[in-house]
This record gives sequence, C-alpha cells and structure tokens, in this order.
Amino acid sequence: MGEPGKSVTALVCSVRCIGLTLMLWHTTAHLFMGTPHSNHSAQHSVHRDLTDTQEQGMGVTTEVLYARVKPPVPGAQWTGVVTQIAVQALETGLVEAVVCVQSEPGDHLAPLPVVARSVADIVAARGVKPSLSPNLNTLALVESLGIKRLLFIGVGCQVQALRHVEKHLGLEALYVLGTNCVDNGRREGLAKFLQAASDSPDTVLHYEFMQARARGRKRGERDSRTQYLANPHMKTLQDYRVHLKHRDGHFEKVPYFSLPANDLNDVIAPSCYACFDYANAAADVVVGYMGVPSLGVDMTQHLQYVTVRNERGAALLKLIEERVERRPPVSAGDRKALVLQTVLADDEAKLGKGPKPMPRLLGTALAWLLTRLGPRGMEFARYSLDYHVIRQGLKNYLHVVRTWGKERAARHVPAYAKQIVADYDAKGAISAR
Ligand code: FAD
Repeated sequence: MGEPGKSVTALVCSVRCIGLTLMLWHTTAHLFMGTPHSNHSAQHSVHRDLTDTQEQGMGVTTEVLYARVKPPVPGAQWTGVVTQIAVQALETGLVEAVVCVQSEPGDHLAPLPVVARSVADIVAARGVKPSLSPNLNTLALVESLGIKRLLFIGVGCQVQALRHVEKHLGLEALYVLGTNCVDNGRREGLAKFLQAASDSPDTVLHYEFMQARARGRKRGERDSRTQYLANPHMKTLQDYRVHLKHRDGHFEKVPYFSLPANDLNDVIAPSCYACFDYANAAADVVVGYMGVPSLGVDMTQHLQYVTVRNERGAALLKLIEERVERRPPVSAGDRKALVLQTVLADDEAKLGKGPKPMPRLLGTALAWLLTRLGPRGMEFARYSLDYHVIRQGLKNYLHVVRTWGKERAARHVPAYAKQIVADYDAKGAISAR
C-alpha cells in the first residue's frame, strides 16, 4: 500500500488539483477517442527515423540491449530491472518519489497506483497486474505533496497522457521508466482469460505470452543457456506458449493455439484496439521481453529487453550497472509471412470464425514446429509489433472512420503505423479484409 497518512493530503488538495484532474480526464478521453498520436515524444524532441527498420517499429532509440538483475529481485515479474532501477533512483536521491502500481488489498492481480516514497513501497509494487491501471490519478497527490523530482513507471497509454500534462505539474525533473504493453484489459476480462487458459486460475501469480527459446545446442552440449551466454549471436527459437507462474512456484505452459480465441474477443479493452504504442515511444527507457530469446530458464532468471531512448533513460539504467548483466540483442529469420498469416487468422477469430482451440498436445506440437520455422529474437519483436499495428490499424481505422469521419481517422493513425500497413498491403491482402 501507499502511505495512508500522506494520502489524506489528497483529500484537501487545492482547486488547482481539481482543475488538473479535469484536464487529465479531458486528455485521457482524447487519447482513447481519437486525438492524433504523437510520432515522437516531446521529451526526445526528435522524430523516429522512418527509414531505419528498428526505429520505425521501436521508436527513438539510442541503445537496445538485453539485461537481467543478478541476483534477481525476489517476487519480481522477471528479474526486477524495473524495481531495481526505481529503488536506486529513490535511494540515490535522484528522485523524491516513484509512481508505481501496487495491488488492491485482497486481489493481487488488481492494480492500485500509488506514490511510493520508501523502498518498501516500491518493492511492494513489483510484479505485473495485467489490467488497465489509472496511474494518472496519482498526479494530484504528487502535486499536493510538493514533489519536484519524480520517477513515473508506466505503460504507453499512461506515459502518453503523462507527457500531455507534464508541463502543468511544476516538476523540476521527471524520469519515465516504461514497460512495453499490448492487449491489456479490464480486471473482469482477466478472470475470463485465466479461466480459459489455466487448469488452476485462482493460483496464478503472474503470466506472460512467451516468445523465444534458445536454440543452437550442438550434440553433447546440454546447457543452451550457458551456450547463449558464451555466444550471444547464436540462433534463437520462439516458444508460442503462455507461461503461467503459480503461487507454489510451478509454471504451467499453454500453447497459444489451445486458447479459445473466438470466445476471448471481449477480453482486450476497446482502448487497446486504439493504441499504437506497444513500444512505449514517449518513455525515457523501456523494459519488456518481446525481443529477447529465452534461455530455457524461468522468467525470474532470464534476460529482459531494454530500449534506451535518451540521456535520462541512460542515467536510469546506469543506476543499476553494478547489479546488472548486459548482453547484445540477437535477430534471425523473416517475420513477414507470419505477420500476414497472424493478421488473417486473428481477423477470422474476431468474426467468430476462427478454428476451435487445439488439444494441448497438438498445440504443443504446432508450437514446436513454429519454433523451427518462425522469426527469432529482435525479428520476433518486429513480427509482434507489425502484427499489432496492422490489426489495430485495420480495426481502428474502420471504427474511427465510421465514428468520426475519414479526416479525423487519418489523423489518429501515426505515420509509422501507416507505413507498416502500406508495406504489408502492397498486394492488397489487407485492404481485401
Ligand atoms: P518488476 O520489477 O516486477 O516491476 C513491475 C513494474 O510494473 C512495477 O514497478 C509496477 O509499478 C508496474 N506495473 C504493474 N502493473 C502495472 C499496470 N497494470 N500498469 C502499469 N504498470 C504496472 N512486455 C513485452 O515485451 N510485451 C508485452 O506485451 C508486455 N505487456 C505488458 C503489460 C503490462 C500491463 C505491463 C505492466 C507490462 C507488460 N510488459 C510487456 C512488460 C513486462 O511484463 C515486464 O513488466 C517487464 O519486463 C519488467 O519486468 P521486471 O521484472 O523488471 O518488473
């Protein structure tokens, strides 16, 4: 929990705070209802380079790396890169407070955004609560507490809204530590998803849609993890399974193809279908996993994927340099055919015409096959980005054209996303949908 004594201050926050709240509501409503997406962050003050394959999808980048905290932060989602940076930022005095997301009392998967001013409060926020979280609600409290140096942890939609109101907060320094995020939803939808995915939905602590598994083991070499660490340019494989971490520590692994896609259409929030910011382009540094090859070890031990966007992001990462193991990114394969197939299959499922879920054994076999044929490492990250952009580009474009008219719809889709859709639509396969 946050600090109860301090939260009382929120109740007496000034007229200015009420004004700020109204402004945030206005901004957030615009964000989800069709305001043009910025193709760059005000903070970076540079546009992403659309001729650069990496920046086109990932946003403005000064460095991409894989990293993990050693030893890991106990109870973190992965190894705790995010928690460790936040703890160091507070302990070194870089910031006075951290906006992060704890859990609602009695429901560890329900998000509760807080203004953390102690290490214990930051550590209590470790782990993903996979539902929409109203992080900007904390800003009135930040202002009423007179905080001047702030670290904000958040996903793309929260960070975009934050950037819109940043100039009104009276801060001397704002650091933004982002995570990648796609296809989030409401807490109720999460319950439905877990019922469908897990044999034991009530004991799920964390979960991730896992993407890569290390390959390249030669005969006689048993430990692919050791091999990757010795040779970071080795080939990698995708996993195509959801890994569900349970309270007793065991992992349940369910192939994507065994999920009832036709029944899960309403699990993803409508606002996420309007989002073009999987990469979290307006954060200073972003932590995720989509472009990292798994080492065949559990999430809590393996490398994470870090995108540094500017000097502030580099300064945040530097805070943990003594406790972090760094590796260069890897990439292999060709994503393009798989992107189109996924878009078409997803569209069928949206229309309720997708295939029935596969028995787990068959789903596992298909996942195994795809790991041998599909894109890997950074190329998988681009597969995932491209697929979501096209899916969202299509669905949303049609939606906003009908709702707000063509002109406003055209403003809503950012230039980089239009470019990706056009790349894949050269032969009209997408327009035909
Ligand atoms: P930890 O040290 O455990 O810290 C987790 C941090 O997440 C905490 O500081 C907490 O404040 C914050 N947090 C928890 N719940 C929320 C929430 N609902 N909204 C905002 N912040 C929250 N990576 C990908 O590559 N692909 C994805 O599709 C993807 N989806 C994500 C969806 C959500 C909602 C979130 C929060 C993260 C997602 N990530 C995704 C990032 C990834 O799951 C990890 O968060 C990241 O690798 C950091 O791991 P860690 O061990 O360093 O985190």
